[in-house]
Amino acid sequence: MQEVYMQCPFCFNITTDVKDSRVSQDKETVRRRRSCESCKSKFTTYEKIQLRELIVIKKSGAKKIFDRDKIYTSIATALRKRNVEEQQINNITDDITRELKSSTATEIPTKKIGELIMQKLESIDQVAYIRFASVYRDFNTAKDFAKFIGKIK
Ligand SMILES: [Zn+2]
Repeated sequence: MQEVYMQCPFCFNITTDVKDSRVSQDKETVRRRRSCESCKSKFTTYEKIQLRELIVIKKSGAKKIFDRDKIYTSIATALRKRNVEEQQINNITDDITRELKSSTATEIPTKKIGELIMQKLESIDQVAYIRFASVYRDFNTAKDFAKFIGKIK
C-alpha cells in the first residue's frame, strides 16, 4: 500500500506501511493503521486538522477560547507561598494544556480542566490542593468542606 513516513515507536524505523485509513464521523480526523516495514509492529496514528482553537465551556454555558494563562494563574494562586518554583508551575500548566489539546474533543467544560488541575495539585502540595478545591468545588456548607478534608490522607 501507500507509503507515508512515520517513525515506528518500537524500532524507530521511518518507513511504515499504511494498512488502513479511516475518516472519523465528524470528518475531521483520519485514523491510520500502520505496520512497520522493519520490525512489523503495528500502531495507529491520528491525523487531525488544526483549525479551531480549543473552546472552553463555562458552567453558565458561555464559551471562551482556551487560554493557557488562566490555567497558569489558577495553579500559581493555589501554590502561592508554597515554595514551589515557577518552572514547576509552568511544567504543570504545559502538561494540562498538552493533555487537553491532544484529546479529540474541541470543546472542554471548565469542570474537566478543574479536575485536571486538582489531580496535579494533589500530588504536589496538599495545601494548594485544598485551596484550589475550596474555590473550585464551591462547597455550600462547612460540613461539605469538612467531608472533603476528611477524605485527604
Ligand atoms: Zn519497527
